Amino acid sequence: MRLVDRAPAHIRSISPYQPGKPIGELAREMGLSEAGIVKLASNENPLGMSARARDAATAALAGIERYPDGNGFELKAALSRRFGVASEQIVLGNGSNDVLELAARAFIAPGSAAVFSQYAFAVYPLATNAAGGRCIAVPARDYGHDLAAMAAAITPDTRIVFIANPNNPTGTFIAGDEIETFLGGVPDDVLVVLDEAYTEYLRPEQRYDSLAWLARFPNLLVSRTFSKAYGLAGLRVGYGIGQPEVVDLLNRVRQPFNVSSVALAAATAALEDEEFLARSAEINRRGMALLEQAFQALSLEWIPSAGNFITFKVGDAATVNAALLKQGVIVRPIAGYGMPQWLRVSIGLPEENARFIKALKKALAPAG
Ligand SMILES: *Cc1c(COP(=O)(O)O)cnc(C)c1O
Repeated sequence: MRLVDRAPAHIRSISPYQPGKPIGELAREMGLSEAGIVKLASNENPLGMSARARDAATAALAGIERYPDGNGFELKAALSRRFGVASEQIVLGNGSNDVLELAARAFIAPGSAAVFSQYAFAVYPLATNAAGGRCIAVPARDYGHDLAAMAAAITPDTRIVFIANPNNPTGTFIAGDEIETFLGGVPDDVLVVLDEAYTEYLRPEQRYDSLAWLARFPNLLVSRTFSKAYGLAGLRVGYGIGQPEVVDLLNRVRQPFNVSSVALAAATAALEDEEFLARSAEINRRGMALLEQAFQALSLEWIPSAGNFITFKVGDAATVNAALLKQGVIVRPIAGYGMPQWLRVSIGLPEENARFIKALKKALAPAG
């Protein structure tokens, strides 16, 4: 038997995650200069990071020969102060992706299953498959989570339900009271992972306090990230908040030094800069409105989004995407999510949004 055939079937059947195209790669392929390329493909913060986070990251380089604090004491203390939870309730991840994987590794094994929505974040099936679990994908309703159907889809072998709110790639949002009702109907021996990667972008009237539910629902784990609104995607740092018992299990399968010292320092500082977060949310709101206007003017359908990106329908998305790439604009095709007629674009700076709209108009114009 060939070596690779010795890998478990559940590993061999995993389809790899398809990331947004890096700027350098497009520059090489098209012979473009990197400076002229607009990347709106990975929901990154177009403002960069908080100056405070940058200073902290730079200062942390001075001690880079040392291993990081494997318990992330300072960052947990800052999160604990900020959110009113105990440090024992916090697990740190190499990005929140890591937290999702830790949850799968701690609770899923061959013979068990995870429930998530159609069109939900690609890491849920990846993490479930890698742990040998079965995926139960529940048909979406209006491109978002059908919570009633998801509750009904829970089987005796289900160990995790993943919910993304807002969801990526569709941007759909579930009101807090609906999630609360859902939690009340989930068996208490099923972990609910509530993935709030974009929660900092919610409008004031959309906000809800998921951490307040932890006392009543000890089977809840909330995951969040510094990659999106905080602008630290390249550093890889996220966190999960749950009951100490659950967090303890995740910590057992966590790599001892999974978050770097630079990431810990930057995240701790970033957490204090609320002004930067507010500015990021504001520029996002304005960019979102501009793109919605543009789609309206072009008679394109879009899915109203609560995140820092928006998904719109162009028909032959592969061709439109190729025409955008030729003009140095990188967006995200989502055929891998079963949406071959749609593209997802991240909200950029005003000039980036304008470049995108101009390129999109050209890409959609009949060839001539
Ligand atoms: C971007 C994203 C994440 C995680 O990103 P990290 O960089 O690993 O923190 C998690 N969930 C959703 C829905 C996302 O879009």
